[in-house]
Amino acid sequence: MTAYPQVKMLIGGEWVTDGGDGTMAVTNPATEAVLGQCPKASAEQLDAALAAADEGFKTWSNTPGIERYNILRRGAEILRERAPQIADIITAEMGKPRAQALPEVVVSGDVIDFLAEEAKRQGGRLVPPRHHGLLSQQVLHMPVGPAVLLTPWNFPVNLAARKLGGALAAGCSVILKPAEDTPASAQMLVEALVDGGLPKGVINLVYGDPGPVSEHLIASPITRKISFTGSTAIGKHLGALAAQDMKRFTPELGGHAPVIISETADFERSLAACVAGKFRNAGQVCVSPTRFLVARGVYDKFVSEFAARAAQIKVGDAGADESVEMGPLAHERRVPAMAHALGDLGGSKGEIVTGGAAIDGSGFFYQPTVVANPSMDSRLMTEEPFGPIAGIVPYDTIEDAVETANALRYGLAAYAFTSSLDESHYLGQNLRAGMVAINHLAVSSPETPFGGVGDSGFGSESGEEGYLGYTETKLVTVGKAG
Ligand code: NAD
Repeated sequence: MTAYPQVKMLIGGEWVTDGGDGTMAVTNPATEAVLGQCPKASAEQLDAALAAADEGFKTWSNTPGIERYNILRRGAEILRERAPQIADIITAEMGKPRAQALPEVVVSGDVIDFLAEEAKRQGGRLVPPRHHGLLSQQVLHMPVGPAVLLTPWNFPVNLAARKLGGALAAGCSVILKPAEDTPASAQMLVEALVDGGLPKGVINLVYGDPGPVSEHLIASPITRKISFTGSTAIGKHLGALAAQDMKRFTPELGGHAPVIISETADFERSLAACVAGKFRNAGQVCVSPTRFLVARGVYDKFVSEFAARAAQIKVGDAGADESVEMGPLAHERRVPAMAHALGDLGGSKGEIVTGGAAIDGSGFFYQPTVVANPSMDSRLMTEEPFGPIAGIVPYDTIEDAVETANALRYGLAAYAFTSSLDESHYLGQNLRAGMVAINHLAVSSPETPFGGVGDSGFGSESGEEGYLGYTETKLVTVGKAG
């Protein structure tokens, strides 16, 4: 097991262990043991990071795309080399099994690679002039400026890599503020990029109380772009702050993904995918499948087999036992959040088929939980539970299922399992979500855009869109001199 590192901030190229605003403890959610202390940046340290990012932008935005690519590509390689150690730290900080933490780090390298390559490809475009006197019309993608990146704890390396990859490839300097629950995982990503050769000041790393830190960074005139992954409520708050100074803002927020299981679907394949997908990362995934809408003809069988498999999942301290399939919730506050999600089922016809309780002992463990037939207006079916809970209801027609799926304000991911080509086309066209996956649940890849609509946010990360999100469009048009 990798030793927990000293948690450090990076300000203007210097690693800083002393937080001007004190420290906070980092806890292992499986054991409740304190892993280390995380420094909290003072206002002066935040200002120093902003000044460094301002300077860093001047050099980095003028660095040729191919050089940015070379540096980021080296950083991605170093990240992949260190993946085993980083995976250990992810497991210690937020509890997911190593079998999930390791691919998270490796694919983060691939995300950075893809975005770095865009620095070689995104040359803008030439638009043919419409008048004789007009010589050229160039459409340029200019780096937007120093970017503030606010990332959460559920994928502490991957969600930071998406933002860092896009921003740095496009020529922006950055200040990364990772979640206070998982500071060392994000730090190890930053270390890999620094060791890849990023110049001083281009990447800065700070921690602290998220409210005051984000307000300070967003209000600075140096900041030109904010990217946030987290809850819808905080996303709306940060969006309002960004709007005050017309700053670019990309929110990647909560979801409440519906899954439609058609009677024509391959039952065994869809069941296996849904159980694995639901309990991955203890359901703490913004695209976690959560509202299962199952054709009435296969509903009873689906509920009983889903619940039987959920009850078999091995829950425990993944850092101590490699055979554990589901770790704890990432923080103490998430345990009452599960009770809250199930709190109003009493008045509905919903039945907890398996689970429904915290697991006694140390650590923040919760049973894999399956609820059959909850009311569509229950909390479980309307508010994102962000945990290992599935609600399953029957449907009669595919049109009804789509209407139910589209009924919430969230619109991140939506899934369906069917072997009907007609249904597949209808679902792809009519499910209201930023990402629709038919017959599988994998909506996140380095090459494709990831993002939502409605209360799930706007804009995309990864893919070409993940690079363009850190640019602004400029027209340069040249006419004849005489
Ligand atoms: P929370 O709202 O306290 O924190 C969620 C994340 O937002 C954390 O990373 C936190 O550091 C950050 N945050 C909180 N207040 C902030 C502020 N004022 N400025 C900047 N960042 C701030 O909730 P929690 O208990 O940690 O997580 C549960 C909720 O968060 C879930 O309901 C889920 O919707 C959301 N969440 C979403 C994602 C995602 O991938 N979209 C990831 C983690 C958490």
